[in-house]
Amino acid sequence: MLRTILCSLLLLSAATLTLAQQPFLSSEQWVKLRDEANGAAPYENLRYLTRLHRVPATAEFDKAAQFIQQQAKEYGLTDVQSEQFPIDGKTQYGLMRSYLGWTVEAGQLWEVRPQHLLLGDWATDPIRLADYSHTADVEAALVDVGDGSHEADYTGKDVRGKIVLADGVLARVQALAVIKYGAAGIVSDMPNQTTAWSGLDRTIVRWGHLDARQPTGFAFMISLDTAESLRTRLHAGEQIALHAKVKAEVGPGQWTDVSGVIPGTDPASGEIVYSCHLDHPRPGANDNGSGCVTILESARVLVQLIGSGALPRPKRTLRFIWGPEVEGTMAYLSHPDVRSRLRVNIHMDMVGGDPFKNKSIFHVTETPWSLPSFVTDIGAAFADVIRTGAASYASDGASPEAAVLETRAGEQGTRNQFLADVTPYSAGSDHDDYDSSTVAIPSLYLRDWPDIYIHTDHDTLSQIDPTKLRRVGLLGAASGYVYASLDAERSRSLLPFFVAQSEMRLAQLSQQAQQIAENPKLDPGDAWYEARNLIRQGLQREIATLSSLLVFSGSSPHDATAEKALTDQAATFNSWIDNRTKARGAQGTEPKARWADAQAARKVPVRVGDFGPLNYQNDDVLKARLTPERMAKIKLLDSEATPLLNEHNSSELYAYEIVNFVDGKRTVGEIRDAVSAEYGALPVEVVEDYLSACKEAGLIQWK
Ligand SMILES: [Zn+2]
Repeated sequence: MLRTILCSLLLLSAATLTLAQQPFLSSEQWVKLRDEANGAAPYENLRYLTRLHRVPATAEFDKAAQFIQQQAKEYGLTDVQSEQFPIDGKTQYGLMRSYLGWTVEAGQLWEVRPQHLLLGDWATDPIRLADYSHTADVEAALVDVGDGSHEADYTGKDVRGKIVLADGVLARVQALAVIKYGAAGIVSDMPNQTTAWSGLDRTIVRWGHLDARQPTGFAFMISLDTAESLRTRLHAGEQIALHAKVKAEVGPGQWTDVSGVIPGTDPASGEIVYSCHLDHPRPGANDNGSGCVTILESARVLVQLIGSGALPRPKRTLRFIWGPEVEGTMAYLSHPDVRSRLRVNIHMDMVGGDPFKNKSIFHVTETPWSLPSFVTDIGAAFADVIRTGAASYASDGASPEAAVLETRAGEQGTRNQFLADVTPYSAGSDHDDYDSSTVAIPSLYLRDWPDIYIHTDHDTLSQIDPTKLRRVGLLGAASGYVYASLDAERSRSLLPFFVAQSEMRLAQLSQQAQQIAENPKLDPGDAWYEARNLIRQGLQREIATLSSLLVFSGSSPHDATAEKALTDQAATFNSWIDNRTKARGAQGTEPKARWADAQAARKVPVRVGDFGPLNYQNDDVLKARLTPERMAKIKLLDSEATPLLNEHNSSELYAYEIVNFVDGKRTVGEIRDAVSAEYGALPVEVVEDYLSACKEAGLIQWK
């Protein structure tokens, strides 16, 4: 008897596995995509990329771009192009100011006294020369300035003409040591991004960048081990003389973007755009050679299957772009005709890490609440099919096909599980630009995080798992194919799936809302307002998510049955919140914010000027347009005025979303409520204050 039950359970679970990709693809379609997807091909392409030091607007970046262009042509993409965008530190692409190019001929650092020792050589190990280092030929004493990014680090020290040893943020050390106090250059062991494993491996050399807009300075990057030994010797009174020789120039240049397409049947129906970023230091295997070779693999899979007729040609065109991070994206989006055709983005930034080596989890990342979209649920569903298949295989060794391994033909992929989840919006790559409100192309953002070797000389091919590349290549191809094919009829039949997802998210929010309602630190009236606000914003977000699907596929934007299901669910949660907060002493018939009648809350901001968010890796629009004194007064960015924001390190997320929620209709109070639901309650004055700074910078007007 037990045996019969077990057998039928096994049958059931096998059936679940083969059907799990539905409702988006048939089993046959999924199997075709899965069998075509390959982990060895992207792994070999990655082997080539990891030999290049791919700093934007340099010769080696362009060599990487040429390689991608050649492979894209070979794989059968259509209209493969390489486009150059001039950069000079001033030209704008959208709101973003372009940066500068960098040409390097040589860079060597020697200890010349008392030992004779090579500390770094660009020719063999380019990561050891910080980006945007300038020409120099100096023999000078080494001075330890500690962190080196604070004024106090220089009290009582004469660094003029000397080389400083520092582990603070490199551009800040440059501003103080070199520009202000006249040091010749820097030797840096600035630590890598903080993770639980930070500092354990003391041999890592981190990638460093100086501020390209500063006229002088050079920096060499060394490991923690080397730096500690130099520090110990200096503290013991030893005089250490170094010789730095750099031949390099910072100046105008060009960014290169490579693109290609798989044409759809209906050019008017818009395009799906795949992106990655092709730049970063050698080896840069996971960040982000992996994303570049994996969107290329998704492209190859789709070209093969669509070209051979195994899959019907979708109506929307699939576009693929390889360029420098954020900058290449903003430059490409500056073509208004292209931007207006793009409907959905699939962005891959670090997708190949073996989680047992680089400690990563693979995240399917939601769009921000300002841009609710169905795209995440589709990507998450496919990730779950692979995750379930891999977990089942790991437990009993059966059904290796469902685990999507790259051990076929003796390839070196692992049999690892697929450690994958879905996380809220997180900033830090090109998806920030796609998701921002004036671009509004919702992004399926796929990423590994953490990665203990990010931005170091240890981000090598040996951290990469061909099995993972195959899985993510498949995930990218399947998601893009569904986005490209969706029509009105299909999307209506998919609604029940999406409503169920929305109901699950609302239920999770209701648990947060109950915690707010119960929070003894909150006044009962405030608790009532914030808890109900969370449900209200969550409901709006889910209704907008459903609407995004219907509008995308050409249906009418509302479905009364679906919306009623969500509204009823929210009403139940609301009544529990009402009962609980009233029992705690909340007064009145409706929850009301303390600031509801304030003048500031009723103002309506309107966006003016160019497209794009306000923050880029090499440009901060507010900083560029306001004085440092004015910047220091912005409450949202001032850690002393808002210690809570600093603690959660979320000022930038709030700032990004405050601007995104500006649509010419929402009041400051409504924007405050929207960002408070997403990231936690924020005083309305902080929102008004930030928007006032944006007004002074010419980015918004009051209606
Ligand atoms: Zn990256």
